[in-house]
Amino acid sequence: MIEDFKQKALKLDKNDKLAHFRNQFEIGDEIYLDGNSLGRLPKKTLELSTNLIQNQWGKRLIRSWNEHWIELPNKVAAKIAQIVGAKPDEIFVGDSTSINFYKLAFAALSFQNNKTKIITDSLNFPTDIYVLQGLIEQQFKNHSLSIIKSDDEISISDKDIEQTLDENTALLTLSHVVFKSAYKYNMQKINDLAHKKGVLVLWDLSHSAGAVPVNLNESGADMAVGCTYKYLNGGPGAPAFLYIRKDLQEKLSNPIWAWFSHDKPFDFTLDYEVKNDIQRFATGTPSVLSLAAIEAGLDIMIEAGMENLREKSVAQSSFLIELVENLLQPLGFTIASPLNAEERGSHISIQHQEGYKINRAMIEPVDGSPSIIPDFRPPNNIRLGIAPLYNTFEEIFQTVIRIKKIVETKEFERFGDEKLTVV
Ligand SMILES: *Cc1c(COP(=O)(O)O)cnc(C)c1O
Repeated sequence: MIEDFKQKALKLDKNDKLAHFRNQFEIGDEIYLDGNSLGRLPKKTLELSTNLIQNQWGKRLIRSWNEHWIELPNKVAAKIAQIVGAKPDEIFVGDSTSINFYKLAFAALSFQNNKTKIITDSLNFPTDIYVLQGLIEQQFKNHSLSIIKSDDEISISDKDIEQTLDENTALLTLSHVVFKSAYKYNMQKINDLAHKKGVLVLWDLSHSAGAVPVNLNESGADMAVGCTYKYLNGGPGAPAFLYIRKDLQEKLSNPIWAWFSHDKPFDFTLDYEVKNDIQRFATGTPSVLSLAAIEAGLDIMIEAGMENLREKSVAQSSFLIELVENLLQPLGFTIASPLNAEERGSHISIQHQEGYKINRAMIEPVDGSPSIIPDFRPPNNIRLGIAPLYNTFEEIFQTVIRIKKIVETKEFERFGDEKLTVV
């Protein structure tokens, strides 16, 4: 059976029309299944960043603002817009996801100050929930936050969401693809349900931008945020983005009034006058070095095409599930992601009671086999991220074989329970 799976992997790689994109990334000896936390480095990014530092910063100094940098945020935003199905003037790029989430949540709650309910779910990424808790504590003291619970920690039905929405709901906010299980909401359906009750929706696309096709415009999305260092391969801590549909932009106000959201920042006047486009959600000086580093990754993704990437991602995650069901379930693993491809993003979580130690043994092998890098999310999820731009079917096969060996030989027992800082 194992040999059959291996042959299947090799055949799928041979027929993979996106295989050549792997060469556009720096690839070492490791098997990297953590592109959903930090994407790989595109070779072109190295070249462009070196040029930027040596020439634009090193030689042209401040003149580079006019020559290259002042237009950079808009240039990058236009490329992100293509990937998430928005218009270029509906995307702002800059700040972190958390900050953008704060700005939009604040703006949405202020805009509808007569409504006091905020709704999210227990599968959402903690930073979003913390921001909402902080907003209620510090500013919107009459508001309340409802966190819809998932029964199985994998998914939540549209019906469960619908039941909580009413005329007093100001904001519904969800991760489009949730970070642990990879459950994917039907964005259009949720938007429709919310709009029927007059509720604004704020999506977090951190685990979907570059992982699954997203069409913010077609699905009638109001607002969204997302990061660029995961599937978009923008580099550690790369600037995040936010989206506001065009007709909503003038109704929402950035809680941080700063010079880059001022209509004429270089007039240096003492009175704030807000820009009348998406840049009203800008704050301070753009992070040029990390902003420039995003662009090459976006170009690769646009060239490959989101629909093609999705097709490969589904084939790879389905192959992974097949391997787990056949080779790992007998060893005590369970799958903590939706089995229906329609309902999941581009990673798969598998659970085992020794999950953390197995995850460590994958990263730090003793038998000369390659290091395999997944990540770990409590209580016992090993997340296997699939980035179809550079992952192969053979890597997925090898990963499952390696996990099987780690468990069968009890190699994981070398590790204690103490956790590394970044897990
Ligand atoms: C990764 C991630 C974030 C990260 O927020 P930062 O402020 O960029 O650190 C936020 N939300 C979700 C859903 C994520 O997956």
